[in-house]
Amino acid sequence: MNEKLDKQLKREEFPSLKTKHKIPRGWIQWKGTDVCMDIHCNCGKLLHIDTTFAYHIKCPYCKRVYECDGHIKLHELDFEPEGTILIEKGLDD
Ligand SMILES: [Zn+2]
Repeated sequence: MNEKLDKQLKREEFPSLKTKHKIPRGWIQWKGTDVCMDIHCNCGKLLHIDTTFAYHIKCPYCKRVYECDGHIKLHELDFEPEGTILIEKGLDD
Protein backbone atom coordinates (compact mmCIF):
# COMPACT_ATOMS: atom_id res chain seq x y z
CA MET A 1 0.00 0.00 0.00
CA ASN A 2 1.45 3.39 -0.92
CA GLU A 3 2.12 6.04 1.72
CA LYS A 4 -0.56 8.50 0.54
CA LEU A 5 -3.29 5.86 0.58
CA ASP A 6 -2.06 4.53 3.92
CA LYS A 7 -2.29 8.08 5.37
CA GLN A 8 -5.82 8.54 3.99
CA LEU A 9 -6.94 5.26 5.51
CA LYS A 10 -5.68 6.19 8.99
CA ARG A 11 -8.80 8.33 9.47
CA GLU A 12 -11.54 6.65 11.45
CA GLU A 13 -12.00 3.21 9.93
CA PHE A 14 -15.23 2.47 11.73
CA PRO A 15 -17.01 5.82 12.03
CA SER A 16 -18.97 6.26 15.22
CA LEU A 17 -22.71 6.02 14.82
CA LYS A 18 -23.03 8.58 17.61
CA THR A 19 -21.69 11.51 15.58
CA LYS A 20 -23.98 14.40 14.74
CA HIS A 21 -24.91 13.36 11.21
CA LYS A 22 -28.45 13.16 9.90
CA ILE A 23 -30.38 9.99 10.63
CA PRO A 24 -31.43 7.54 9.38
CA ARG A 25 -28.11 6.51 7.96
CA GLY A 26 -25.90 3.42 7.77
CA TRP A 27 -22.39 2.35 7.11
CA ILE A 28 -21.14 -0.66 5.15
CA GLN A 29 -17.94 -2.55 5.82
CA TRP A 30 -16.92 -3.78 2.41
CA LYS A 31 -16.23 -7.53 2.43
CA GLY A 32 -14.89 -7.80 -1.08
CA THR A 33 -18.12 -9.18 -2.52
CA ASP A 34 -19.80 -8.46 -5.83
CA VAL A 35 -21.12 -4.98 -6.45
CA CYS A 36 -23.08 -3.26 -9.18
CA MET A 37 -22.43 0.49 -8.99
CA ASP A 38 -23.51 3.65 -10.81
CA ILE A 39 -21.01 6.46 -10.33
CA HIS A 40 -21.30 10.18 -11.00
CA CYS A 41 -17.72 11.42 -11.37
CA ASN A 42 -16.62 14.98 -10.62
CA CYS A 43 -15.81 15.31 -14.33
CA GLY A 44 -19.52 14.91 -15.12
CA LYS A 45 -19.40 11.40 -16.56
CA LEU A 46 -21.92 8.80 -15.46
CA LEU A 47 -20.23 5.42 -15.12
CA HIS A 48 -21.34 1.87 -14.34
CA ILE A 49 -19.41 -1.17 -13.13
CA ASP A 50 -20.22 -4.76 -12.19
CA THR A 51 -17.23 -6.07 -10.32
CA THR A 52 -15.78 -7.45 -7.09
CA PHE A 53 -13.43 -5.91 -4.56
CA ALA A 54 -14.36 -2.32 -5.49
CA TYR A 55 -12.57 -0.59 -2.64
CA HIS A 56 -11.13 1.99 -5.02
CA ILE A 57 -12.25 3.04 -8.49
CA LYS A 58 -10.74 5.15 -11.26
CA CYS A 59 -12.60 7.20 -13.87
CA PRO A 60 -11.48 6.22 -17.38
CA TYR A 61 -12.06 9.78 -18.64
CA CYS A 62 -10.48 12.13 -16.08
CA LYS A 63 -8.37 9.50 -14.25
CA ARG A 64 -9.63 10.59 -10.81
CA VAL A 65 -9.31 7.88 -8.16
CA TYR A 66 -11.93 7.42 -5.45
CA GLU A 67 -12.20 5.38 -2.29
CA CYS A 68 -15.63 3.73 -2.13
CA ASP A 69 -16.99 5.01 1.15
CA GLY A 70 -19.23 2.75 3.18
CA HIS A 71 -21.83 5.36 4.14
CA ILE A 72 -25.32 4.68 2.85
CA LYS A 73 -28.64 6.54 2.87
CA LEU A 74 -31.63 4.83 4.47
CA HIS A 75 -35.09 5.53 3.07
CA GLU A 76 -37.88 4.82 5.56
CA LEU A 77 -40.76 2.80 4.08
CA ASP A 78 -44.38 2.51 5.18
CA PHE A 79 -44.46 -1.16 4.17
CA GLU A 80 -42.17 -4.18 4.69
CA PRO A 81 -40.84 -5.81 1.50
CA GLU A 82 -40.39 -9.61 1.46
CA GLY A 83 -36.89 -10.53 2.59
CA THR A 84 -36.53 -7.57 4.94
CA ILE A 85 -33.81 -8.33 7.50
CA LEU A 86 -34.86 -7.88 11.15
CA ILE A 87 -31.84 -6.62 13.10
CA GLU A 88 -31.64 -8.59 16.35
CA LYS A 89 -30.34 -5.92 18.71
CA GLY A 90 -28.65 -2.54 18.95
CA LEU A 91 -24.90 -2.02 19.19
CA ASP A 92 -25.40 -0.25 22.52
CA ASP A 93 -27.65 -2.95 24.09
ZN1 LIG B 1 -14.13 11.43 -14.31
